[in-house]
Amino acid sequence: MDLGGGTELTEVDFGDGTVVSGKAPQSPVSNEFYYIVSDKCTECMGFHEEPQCAAVCPVDCCVPDPEHVEEEETLLAKKAWLHAEA
Ligand code: SF4
Repeated sequence: MDLGGGTELTEVDFGDGTVVSGKAPQSPVSNEFYYIVSDKCTECMGFHEEPQCAAVCPVDCCVPDPEHVEEEETLLAKKAWLHAEA
């Protein structure tokens, strides 16, 4: 999977001097577990009333990370960045 998958990202600047193409294949974080890339998760803000992965997960494995809480304004800014909204 690439970083741009499902978004309008053409490149991603990690802020440490590293810039990668949105189309460049990335190594998976795990081949054993499903995971959510928090830099791309907007908690479905702007699209749905609630996080859709959590809403449909039959075993309640999509849970909030207390170490990574984001405000609505931050999530909406991320949505705008991901989808190239002006
Ligand atoms: S909350 Fe929404 S955006 Fe985030 S991983 Fe789940 S389905 Fe994707």
